[in-house]
Amino acid sequence: MNPATMEIPIDQKVLAFIGAPRKMLIGGRWLEAASGKTFPTYNPATGEVLAQVAEGNSIDIDRAVIAARTAFESGPWHTMTASERGRLIWKLGDLLESHLEEFAQLESLDNGKPVGVARVADVPLAVDHFRYMAGWATKIEGNTIPISVPYTPGARYLSYTLREPVGVVGQIIPWNFPLLMAAWKLGPALAAGCTIVLKPAEQTPLSALRLGELICEAGFPGGVVNIVTGYGETAGAALAAHQDVDKVAFTGSTEVGKLILKAAAGNLKKVSLELGGKSPNIVCKDADVGASIPGVSSAIFFNQGQCCCAGSRLFIEKSIFDEVVAGVAEDAKKIKVGPGMDLATQMGPLVSDEQQRRVLDYLESGFSEGAKAVVGGHKLGDRGYFVEPTVLVDTTQDMKVIQEEIFGPVVCAMPFTDLNEVLPAANDSIYGLAAAVWTSDVGKAHRIAAELRAGSVWINCYNIFDAALPFGGYKQSGWGREMGHAALELYTEVKAVTVRL
Ligand code: NAP
Ligand code: MG
Repeated sequence: MNPATMEIPIDQKVLAFIGAPRKMLIGGRWLEAASGKTFPTYNPATGEVLAQVAEGNSIDIDRAVIAARTAFESGPWHTMTASERGRLIWKLGDLLESHLEEFAQLESLDNGKPVGVARVADVPLAVDHFRYMAGWATKIEGNTIPISVPYTPGARYLSYTLREPVGVVGQIIPWNFPLLMAAWKLGPALAAGCTIVLKPAEQTPLSALRLGELICEAGFPGGVVNIVTGYGETAGAALAAHQDVDKVAFTGSTEVGKLILKAAAGNLKKVSLELGGKSPNIVCKDADVGASIPGVSSAIFFNQGQCCCAGSRLFIEKSIFDEVVAGVAEDAKKIKVGPGMDLATQMGPLVSDEQQRRVLDYLESGFSEGAKAVVGGHKLGDRGYFVEPTVLVDTTQDMKVIQEEIFGPVVCAMPFTDLNEVLPAANDSIYGLAAAVWTSDVGKAHRIAAELRAGSVWINCYNIFDAALPFGGYKQSGWGREMGHAALELYTEVKAVTVRL
């Protein structure tokens, strides 16, 4: 743990926000749970209770869906122009930006991530996402389509398509990027004209609730965005199964993604899923090794390894294997692990004791099957949910640490001899979210990019995200693409209109 601390004091506004039990946003009003119950959210750096939050259940989900349905079918949102919608979304981005420090601190306290990272990544990316999606509100267009209709000879028709909002949308988000995931979900749904019931993760509900206040301040009509906090098995499951929800968008584990799909079958609501990953990161011997080492280190260690696209399977060409592993291990040793509110911290705690346990269990399972840690491999300290940045070697394809998503700061390094060997190994996963290759041979880079079965491929870089770039998974990493104009397809229906002339 880092001895020299530069811990910052908690902002007064943040203190006031976490000092009172937080209610849910339903129909433009802040309400307690129907049951009157609350649940705690914890500070992962200390394990202490940070705030109390309303514990919504199926009754609250019902109330929120009714509010969303009413706002969708009548009232100001229903008749608002696309331009006005876009302006509201833009305004939300501006408001968020003007409260950047407050959100960065809330995110750090609730999730554990370094506040310095939240200041330059989570919050600005969320702001940019709202701005990007604000622009789309006025650019959702249909087509005019020439038709022939052989069975009505001589008749003429005009056919065109309309892209209309899909309706009431349920959005269930995870804890690894709480604010950014809320922005990825809300931005395109609002641009399309949908109304929303958002369920944040139980571990990290605070930034979404504060965002709800800004949504009200921006002037979104009541009921357009409803935020119900609560547990996945109750509130989340009720939302996914609700008969009057037209679409559910989920980000989280593949296991829960499958439950969402089953729950959605009742009324055949539309489903989009952004699920787990076990992304291959391939370093070829012709790569700029000096640039690839920090690249592959940050690919796994960023956000404490709690990224669905983390570069967790590191394939290194044999002749540079020792050099790259030593470099990544050196990086891991140098990472300053500590509380997120310490400006010197580069890696915070994991989000919860449960997540810490899960990661430590994976490490134990790897060791018992013969894997070795070049560096790390243990928890850190007795307080908070810290785990050492870890590099494993001597893994085999059948081990759990290679097959399953660890979602922690653990990378498995494996040597390879040629592309015929590494490409099938890289693709040998139930997941297909992201992948990367490091090489100075541009032709090879693009050949490999074409061969990798993944929704995002990075060449000589990693974790490059932009609101304009679609993101999502092949195979069991998900259905559909978020961000970019692809995200609008998740939130619109296509209507074909034909008139006889
Ligand atoms: P999770 O259970 O998949 O949680 C994601 C969201 O789904 C949360 O809002 C959760 O609610 C909700 N949920 C849980 N069970 C539900 C159900 N039956 N019906 C509807 N919603 C439900 O993820 P987790 O348990 O926090 O983490 C487990 C593992 O998932 C991690 O170790 C990691 O491998 C993976 N994960 C992946 C991502 C990703 O971005 N791909 C993100 C997070 C986790 P509550 O949390 O409030 O109960
Ligand atoms: Mg928390």
